[in-house]
Amino acid sequence: MFVALATSTANIPVRRILEAEVERSWEFLELARQKALTRLSVIQETTARELGLQDAAIYAAQAAVLQDPEALRELRSWIHQDLLAPESAIQALLDKFGALFESLEGGDMKSWAADLRDPWNLVLGELGQEDVEHAKSGELGNLVLVAEELTPILVVSYPRDKVSAILCSRGGRYSHGAVLARSFGIPTVTGLPQIDEKVHSGEACVIFGDSGQVLVGVDQEETAAALAQVADRDHVRDVMLAGAKEAGRTADGTEVKIRVNIESPRDLDMFDIETVNGVGLFRTEFVYMERPSFPSAQEQAEIYARVLERFPNKTVVFRTLDVGGDKQLRYFKTPKEENPALGWRGIRLSLEWPDLFLMQLQALRECRDLGKVNVMLPMVTNLDEVRRAKKMLQAIAGDEDIGIRFGVMIEVPAAAMALPDIVEEVDFISVGTNDLVQYLFAVDRDNSWVTDLYQPYHPAHLRVLRFIARTCNAAGKPVTVCGEMAGQAAGAFFLTGCGYTGLSMSPLFVPEVKALLRQADIESLRSTAAAAARADTTAEAYAILEESVGSAWKKVIESVENHNT
Ligand code: PEP
Ligand code: MG
Repeated sequence: MFVALATSTANIPVRRILEAEVERSWEFLELARQKALTRLSVIQETTARELGLQDAAIYAAQAAVLQDPEALRELRSWIHQDLLAPESAIQALLDKFGALFESLEGGDMKSWAADLRDPWNLVLGELGQEDVEHAKSGELGNLVLVAEELTPILVVSYPRDKVSAILCSRGGRYSHGAVLARSFGIPTVTGLPQIDEKVHSGEACVIFGDSGQVLVGVDQEETAAALAQVADRDHVRDVMLAGAKEAGRTADGTEVKIRVNIESPRDLDMFDIETVNGVGLFRTEFVYMERPSFPSAQEQAEIYARVLERFPNKTVVFRTLDVGGDKQLRYFKTPKEENPALGWRGIRLSLEWPDLFLMQLQALRECRDLGKVNVMLPMVTNLDEVRRAKKMLQAIAGDEDIGIRFGVMIEVPAAAMALPDIVEEVDFISVGTNDLVQYLFAVDRDNSWVTDLYQPYHPAHLRVLRFIARTCNAAGKPVTVCGEMAGQAAGAFFLTGCGYTGLSMSPLFVPEVKALLRQADIESLRSTAAAAARADTTAEAYAILEESVGSAWKKVIESVENHNT
């Protein structure tokens, strides 16, 4: 297993490489530099044509900066002698420029400093791209991606079949990047201080995703022990998989719809779609994020059709664009905000930019005959937003009953408290526990400093979840959870016991959740859920749920052993 380092252009830490990596690293830097030079020459030509030679001269000067023999000699020495990774060597050069110009005064000096830095930043950008291309080539074998910060864009940039695990210094377990990585089935450990500085490219490592344990520089014996553990788990998983086509239900036959969370139609090729009752959450923003520009209504309709065609008779829930915060589109930058998680996100943005929202609704309308189309709004705060969005959907439908079901996510505590009113306006409710926890406890889900306060099993959260289930059950409306809790055994037990009618999760967790639910009866789940919500502390609540999960696991393991004999 090798370690690849994901580069970013901000705050690059000092990362060292192994001696065996020196030549490859230098070639990497050279390739990126040549690409940056080509880009500069294209920009120079276009500028000369459109604005004149004088304006284009700056790009010639920037190209000269990238060819400065003294800078190249230093970079070479930092890589070859000091064993700095290419991006760290460039950072050292930028730091040197910074120190040099800081000692001088005057506006001109500052602008010269920028002229020296900009072209090397371009090389850094190319280096990041090179990294991705190299990973795609497959030359490196199994990769462990190491980065300072786990952003969704980083996760989608690398080929998922080449990345075996991800390690990050920053970011919480429920950050969008981590949720995405998990849904791709990539073990991910976050909150490892300075991990991007501690590991070396090319080192072998073993990662235990469950416990978060990371062993770097492992020998053959440790690798063999880890592989044996993997084989044991795979065996249990294969047995559970064999029973996964059966409907999701408890031991006494209470049905629970088990659906999946996806980010693209591609995800449907990663598992057996016969094992699920459809899609409970299609995070449509990732389709937008992967592209260089906004998809047209026609392009969006084609993408949605690819999902509906796979589930002609099953529910597919399309969540409307949930960008903002850490989910940014390359071509549509939202303004910089002091508190992006509390800012312009999800439905707030869609209502502000109705053209985009209407285009998405139009695309979904086009697909209405292909299956059971459900539209769901993210980040709803109040009834007014729900009514405004519903009106827009009705405007698209005209007088026709287009058969699109309309639902909202409950992710903001105010919306949970306003649910008795909101539920009257919708066909279904889905709870986004990842965000609900963030907003209920005022803890940024991306911030590893406050990760200890991010507690999905805190009784306060469990009580809110019970209130939501009770309110929807009383109104006769389906209620599901599509946050990470739904795919965790303790969460699935609690939610089923509360009366949730469906659980939507990463496909990876479907066999396990189904196998465990089959070993528990609804009455015991109801009393377990009530006891957990009555607990005083998170530890107490979790222990109550884990006890119930533990006895179900015992029965699953017994059935695996019976299967073996
Ligand atoms: C959630 O918040 O629980 C959710 C499912 O949405 P996301 O993780 O995409 O914010
Ligand atoms: Mg959310």
